[in-house]
Amino acid sequence: YKINMAELELREELGKGQYGVVQKVFHKPTKVIMAMKEIRLELDTGKLSQILMELDVLHKSHSPYIVEFYGAFFIESCVYYCMEYMDAGSLDRLIPYKNGVPEDVLSRIAFSIVSGLRFLKDELKIIHRDVKPTNVLANSKGEIKLCDFGVSGQLIQSLAKTNIGCQSYMAPERIAMSDNAAYSVASDVWSLGISCLEVGSGKYPYPANRYDSIFAQLNAIVHETPPDLPHDRFGPEAIDFVRQCLQKDAKARPTYAELIVHPFILKYQDHADEIDMAGWVQGALEWRQAHADELHQLKNGGGGTGA
Ligand code: ADP
Repeated sequence: YKINMAELELREELGKGQYGVVQKVFHKPTKVIMAMKEIRLELDTGKLSQILMELDVLHKSHSPYIVEFYGAFFIESCVYYCMEYMDAGSLDRLIPYKNGVPEDVLSRIAFSIVSGLRFLKDELKIIHRDVKPTNVLANSKGEIKLCDFGVSGQLIQSLAKTNIGCQSYMAPERIAMSDNAAYSVASDVWSLGISCLEVGSGKYPYPANRYDSIFAQLNAIVHETPPDLPHDRFGPEAIDFVRQCLQKDAKARPTYAELIVHPFILKYQDHADEIDMAGWVQGALEWRQAHADELHQLKNGGGGTGA
């Protein structure tokens, strides 16, 4: 079964990505609300068809930690990717609430990300390549799922030419080599560590405004010891989990099999049902609503990016 644009009713815009907008859509034949991501590419029909073919494997693979794929199509040189609608959006929008999540919530988020990454590696034989809070989505049921993973080789190649942005989740070995050959599972583990740090503390650990240049910022990532999770709010297990992920030596970083049984994950495993993930998402969404004006101002010029 193939989805096409004629079957979709456009609703509101959900966000702007690097390559196009993400829109909420209603799929009329199935009455399912979906999120449709537009990816603008300058490619010929052959390459676009190849991308759709490569995305097809997603129809056969399902995980509670991966955003469901419904189908994709292209119009002119845009690929439209239809996926499960996550009504709370990405984690980056939720974590400024209370300056980051409490320890039990972080443990469940880390568990979900590790489970998702492990699924991608074991079932689809792929590495994510872009683990960061914008690519971790939440819904009001309190579920946490990964999106935007590198499933299509052709799509990865086509997107590779673009810049890296001012918040880098790239592992030191990737910055140093500045090519994708250095990419391995361990690089995703680094990005997981940076993401946990950001989700736990409420802020990205190498903020651009602290450095004179992107070079200085990347230099800090490669050479400086990364900060810990705040000691006043996180126990030794959480702090160790992040430190393990953020080892400069890629080979020293733990595997997913090791991370999934790390004391920080096990600490909350048996009482997972009692952790109020839905309540936390609800609180964060209400906070967002109440601060919508300030957040809007910050985004439109108040940020001081110096650009
Ligand atoms: P980027 O290009 O920076 O990775 P995306 O294009 O993936 O960003 O997404 C832009 C924004 O759209 C996200 O920050 C998120 O808030 C929203 N979004 C993306 N996918 C979904 C989805 N499946 N459900 C709801 N919102 C989404």
